[in-house]
Amino acid sequence: AELNRELEDTNRGVVALYAELDEKAYTLQRANEVKSRFLSNMTHEFRTPLNSILSLARLLLDRVDGELNPEQEKQIGFIRKAAENLSELVNDLLDLAKVEAGKIPVHPVEFRVSDLFGTIRGMLKPLLAANLSVNLVFESTDHLPPLYTDEGKVAQILRNLISNALKYTERGEVRVGAELASGGMMLFHVTDTGIGIAAADQERIFEEYTQVDSEIQRRVRGTGLGLPLSRRLAQLLGGNISVKSDVGVGSTFYATVAVHYAGPAEVSYVPELT
Ligand code: ADP
Repeated sequence: AELNRELEDTNRGVVALYAELDEKAYTLQRANEVKSRFLSNMTHEFRTPLNSILSLARLLLDRVDGELNPEQEKQIGFIRKAAENLSELVNDLLDLAKVEAGKIPVHPVEFRVSDLFGTIRGMLKPLLAANLSVNLVFESTDHLPPLYTDEGKVAQILRNLISNALKYTERGEVRVGAELASGGMMLFHVTDTGIGIAAADQERIFEEYTQVDSEIQRRVRGTGLGLPLSRRLAQLLGGNISVKSDVGVGSTFYATVAVHYAGPAEVSYVPELT
């Protein structure tokens, strides 16, 4: 009887402890939900006025050809550029808030890597035209089996990695390829001959708003959200992103996604204390 009572006491203790842990996890989860909702509402509210600024600036630049003096045209160009930057930031923020809230739907379709590479090449044409001293090479992927996953998200990840590679490479080559990896994964790699990333920064760059301070960094402005978002998207598709890099030599970013998307990954709750 004594032993029984002791066991019962222990049981009650354990139950109480679980209840307390549950409550703490719940509070954290609530806080995270509120943060995500706030970000998502706020970015939505930003979008409409921002789109007006952007389309009006574009309209002015297109329509009144020759009627503006060069100084005025330059200034409207600045307005457009600023609005474009802000718009990119808002879109990245909104996507990040959605992934974090588990609210980004995955639409798997069957597609070939070679077709995806073709699409991406088309999308990056303007960036390539702006940097003629860098060659963008896509390796042949005709031998690879088709993928069954969210093509738009894989494109978004690769576009991010490749546009970074182009941004941080002054001359040389950006090489993109894919191969089958263990565990039913497709491994994409993007190698550049750019400025490289110091060992101490290689994990930090996947954190939100991190930009490595450098001369080139001050010239090429970004949002610091591209890599965190890309990593989340890769994880959503069952994979991940990592980097190998040498300062002054170049970087290779590796992104994996499951060849066959098999439903949402088991999400373990990781509290963020920022
Ligand atoms: P950003 O919008 O600033 O490019 P990202 O999240 O995409 O934001 O990248 C974070 C930081 O990682 C960049 O600001 C840059 O310092 C570094 N970085 C990313 N890709 C490369 C690369 N290919 N070569 C060198 N540095 C890079």
